[in-house]
Amino acid sequence: MKSTRIYLDYAATTPLHPEVGALMHEVSMTIGGNPSSIHAEGRLARTVIEESRKTICKTLQASLSEVFFTSCGTESNNTILIGAVRDLGVRKIISSPLEHHCILHALDYLSKQYPVEVVSLPVDAFGQPELEALQEELARSEGTKTLVSLMQVNNEIGTTIDLRTYGQVCHDHGALFHSDTVQAIGFASYDLQSMPVDFLSGSAHKFYGPKGVGFMYIRNDYVIQPLLYGGSQERNMRSGTENIAGIAGMAKAMELAYSDLVRRNDHMREMRTRLLEGLKLHIPGLTVNGAHPECFSPKILSVNIPAGPRTELLLMNLDIAGVSASGGSACSSGVESASHVLSHLPIREGDKTVRFSFSTQTTGEEIDRVIQIMASLTHVTSPSSSTYTE
Ligand code: PLP
Repeated sequence: MKSTRIYLDYAATTPLHPEVGALMHEVSMTIGGNPSSIHAEGRLARTVIEESRKTICKTLQASLSEVFFTSCGTESNNTILIGAVRDLGVRKIISSPLEHHCILHALDYLSKQYPVEVVSLPVDAFGQPELEALQEELARSEGTKTLVSLMQVNNEIGTTIDLRTYGQVCHDHGALFHSDTVQAIGFASYDLQSMPVDFLSGSAHKFYGPKGVGFMYIRNDYVIQPLLYGGSQERNMRSGTENIAGIAGMAKAMELAYSDLVRRNDHMREMRTRLLEGLKLHIPGLTVNGAHPECFSPKILSVNIPAGPRTELLLMNLDIAGVSASGGSACSSGVESASHVLSHLPIREGDKTVRFSFSTQTTGEEIDRVIQIMASLTHVTSPSSSTYTE
């Protein structure tokens, strides 16, 4: 039976693409060896992994020795940050307060356990780290081995930064540049041969691949130690037997994403605009977070709804009405806490924030339905054609 629910939370995770699922099933059922074994079954498993690596490297214009498979974006980011301090001698990290918790908490850990200074850049009203402040901070860092870590797409508000611009500033000052690209891989193009970027991270479940598999890009010039010891997989950078079906699925998802990149992004942009225009029409006073005219991800729309008698339970009521969206708070293991991202943005007191995020499969009819439901739930005059009843 087809679900009548409308899922608009694709920044949290995406469903598996059917072709990815089919390939993973095939790999799981036919590849039984351990890729580290030297016999025929092991070699076959190794081939699946190395072919997957080739696909991913070709997509990113990286060399084969620069991409390492991990279990998720969190692991990739932690490995890079911890490795940079522990193994590369980084003594200063410049970042932003709007990073994902896997960056912020890793930085917190590093600043307590290692002799490293962590500096948080100011952000503008769109949520972009201020470039001038970065330049000034880097100028002050001359003589100290420095890493800059800035996300490419903010997962809560969709604001983006141009990696070439920020990366060039870092390299001009002799600093390393890492970007948490978990929300951008599969949606943005990369040419890592020419981009001033030293480290990236990706996670398959954000681009219609499986959950529990990711990768990190580490420029050839750098060698870091693994987080876990006991195996020499991934050229000693990531111990543990590889998730073969997951890796194959991630490569397939990458291939599908990049063979259809423009159409997918255009479609999501159209859905985003349709929703925004509709909401603006029916909800006076609605504002958009990260409303930069150019630097935004087409898959994310974060809006603030003025406080009203029924806005307090808006997300829950949306859920009851059949719409899955996400709130202005970070939700980890089912526990809600105030959003560290939104707290840095100019949002009216009492406003309720809702993040909608779109997929390549989101339809105009779904968007129109969500507009009707939102209009109704926020107690503003519903469109006359609305047939929605609570
Ligand atoms: N970084 C960003 C920007 C994210 O949005 C997420 C997941 O929401 C992560 C990192 C963590 O990725 P994973 O779920 O693969 O650990």
